[in-house]
Amino acid sequence: MQWYYIADGRAHGPVSSSRLLALADGAIVRPGTRIWRQGMAGWQPFKTSETVQVPPRTCSRCHGSRPDNEMLTYCDQPICGQCKSAFLQCIRDGVSLAEPPIYAGFTIRALAWFVDAVTILAFTTPLLVLLESLAPDSGDLATVILSWLVTALAGGILTAVIQMLYETWFIGRHGATPGKMACGLKIVRPDGSLLTFRRAFARYWGKVLTGMTMGAGFLLLTIDRQCRSLHDFICDTRVVRNE
Ligand SMILES: [Zn+2]
Repeated sequence: MQWYYIADGRAHGPVSSSRLLALADGAIVRPGTRIWRQGMAGWQPFKTSETVQVPPRTCSRCHGSRPDNEMLTYCDQPICGQCKSAFLQCIRDGVSLAEPPIYAGFTIRALAWFVDAVTILAFTTPLLVLLESLAPDSGDLATVILSWLVTALAGGILTAVIQMLYETWFIGRHGATPGKMACGLKIVRPDGSLLTFRRAFARYWGKVLTGMTMGAGFLLLTIDRQCRSLHDFICDTRVVRNE
């Protein structure tokens, strides 16, 4: 809130509400001094500090209400004292300031993972059954073992290819896999933009690496402030809730 006041026959300002109150304390602005701010019909006499009591503002980060003079303003966004340090950290990290993201935690991501796993199984199971039926089930022991190994290897490759296409296509095209969509999540870059197909493809391989850590790479998200798992660190991605 910016104020103007008349002293020594001319207008001064703009000054903040807290500055105006300080001027009143210093007797530069006195009862009767004419003051004005945008939205007022005309100059009005300053009476008491009540005159400049302005409605509290809403913090753009936590949406809490605070008195105007306790707010920091950055690019027209009011930031309260409690959110200030986290906000400044976001600026240092290069995180988009337009919409404060809500990072997706362990439970919702595990749920999304489960939905995806079931969806992929629904695709792969009929194919694996078909593959199994093609393998010869008679002959000597060596032939049976060999055909079992070939079937298992083909099944593994088929599952991996389907998973890779699933992740790359859905994330590159829609910003989320069906499991993440169902859970109201999306995968973004630090600036809030969606991933390219190339990065979505790289992220799939990052997940393969995470898979090799026996879950430790995934659990990283429980200790990271931005809920990043290993593949999010590798590909510089964040999983956030849809606003
Ligand atoms: Zn706040």
